[in-house]
Amino acid sequence: MRVRRINGILGGTAALALALTACGTAEVGGGNGGGEGDGGEGGGDTITIGVKYDQPGLGLLENDAPVGLDVDVATYIAGELGYEPDQIEWTEAASANREAFLQQGTVDMVVATYSITDERREVVDFAGPYYVAEQDILTRADEEEIQGPEDLAGRVLCSASGSRSAFNITEERGIDAELREAGNYSECLSLLGNGAVDAVTTDNTILAGYAAQNPGTYRVVNNSFGEERYGVGLPEGSTELCEEINAAIAKMWEEGYTLEALETHFGDTDFAYAETAPEADACE
Ligand code: GLU
Repeated sequence: MRVRRINGILGGTAALALALTACGTAEVGGGNGGGEGDGGEGGGDTITIGVKYDQPGLGLLENDAPVGLDVDVATYIAGELGYEPDQIEWTEAASANREAFLQQGTVDMVVATYSITDERREVVDFAGPYYVAEQDILTRADEEEIQGPEDLAGRVLCSASGSRSAFNITEERGIDAELREAGNYSECLSLLGNGAVDAVTTDNTILAGYAAQNPGTYRVVNNSFGEERYGVGLPEGSTELCEEINAAIAKMWEEGYTLEALETHFGDTDFAYAETAPEADACE
């Protein structure tokens, strides 16, 4: 396995990777002899995690730190790997740079509404899924004609570059919408607000957060489709780490932590989130 950007006071990545290889464990930073939460090697290491910074409920930058479901999931997983919250370095990930961040070692993992797909699996590894979302559509509250994907034919549709949400509408479902790609979903929201686009499509989790943030302005069509299986993105070749993270995800659901986090971040919205633990994929 490769462990990147784990910066230790005792010589950084290479020394740590060697130590991990020597103990035959995939537990990043913690070793496996001291039980859980042993705080990383010497307490000086950090783990760098990519999350979204503009998605309410999932990853939203508030006062200098991101908050949301993905942030909580990442914090739990990091804890199981031996990192205290103050050993986590957050980095903003956009839909379009998640693979590159993992390939280039900019981050150690990505927890950013990152759907597991075969195409992405060709260049990165995934642990999980930790949550299964569906896709939906957000439009202005006074727009009555858009009630489902078919109604997007001939309309201007926004999604984030690097996501597969637009592809699911235009290619997979063959709906002839005019596509406007933005850098992220909050840009789509601005375009929807000023009438430059008619609708935004992506995961129901993301849209629920925006709708709750702008009551009376936007409406989730609430006619969801497809399956978006959120994985923890890892650099290619992270099989053992993937197994550790799958164990952490199982425990996170068993302990009720995931449901609590969902309730914290979506309990005050109209979103009926999934309440069951998804089955993990095999790590390869
Ligand atoms: N989950 C979808 C994807 O990974 C859309 C959300 C996003 O772009 O983060 O493509």
